[in-house]
Amino acid sequence: MSRITLALSKGRIFEETLPLLAAAGIVPTDDPESSRKLIIETNRPEVRLVIVRATDTPTYVQYGAADLGIAGKDVLLEHGGDGLYQPLDLNIARCRLCVAVRKGFDYQAVARPGGRIRVATKYINSAKAHFAEKGMHVDLIKLYGSMELAPLVGLADAIVDLVSTGGTLRANNLEEVEDIMPISSRLVVNQAALKLKRDLIQPVLDAFSGAIKP
Ligand code: ATP
Ligand code: MG
Repeated sequence: MSRITLALSKGRIFEETLPLLAAAGIVPTDDPESSRKLIIETNRPEVRLVIVRATDTPTYVQYGAADLGIAGKDVLLEHGGDGLYQPLDLNIARCRLCVAVRKGFDYQAVARPGGRIRVATKYINSAKAHFAEKGMHVDLIKLYGSMELAPLVGLADAIVDLVSTGGTLRANNLEEVEDIMPISSRLVVNQAALKLKRDLIQPVLDAFSGAIKP
């Protein structure tokens, strides 16, 4: 029997994918928040889910360990699109990538061609492209989390991070000074799997496509 594997991260992507799965007639038999299982079966014997770290989703799909996956545009921009077909913007897990600084830091003074800034971020590629486009010189410091701390303790002047409500920035005395791009999650498909298992994958694509909320 041929089967398909969908890679998801737990948290917001899993939660926001449930209605899309339901539209495809797929219901997981376990909840990754309460279960420790990393492979989750569904009501459909030919469909299973694997629970991975958000940044690892493109890797599983690229190597064909998962046939499909759902990953944020932020993650896809950092990973690169090698071997991945990206047919659908699912419009879930929406937020934006932005530049933020400590309140009182004069960003406008350095936000010009030739201006120099020290930036801490998890999003090295996206940050590099953004500041290059503005003609700014940037010293990038790679972090893996809690970016908001960096400007507060003098590790960096600014951060490039995802923001939705801005609550975390405010709580840490930071302010958003530049919007880089809107972010949402995309469906990614392994290109070889799409050819070999189109009979199983295409109906999922069609159901997801019909269930996307504007
Ligand atoms: P971890 O939290 O385990 O360190 P992560 O931050 O990559 O990993 P999530 O916080 O679940 O994982 O984020 C998964 C995806 O959801 C991100 O890649 C991004 O596309 C999106 N996202 C992140 N933060 C927000 C947010 N505040 N609002 C909406 N979507 C977000
Ligand atoms: Mg997170």
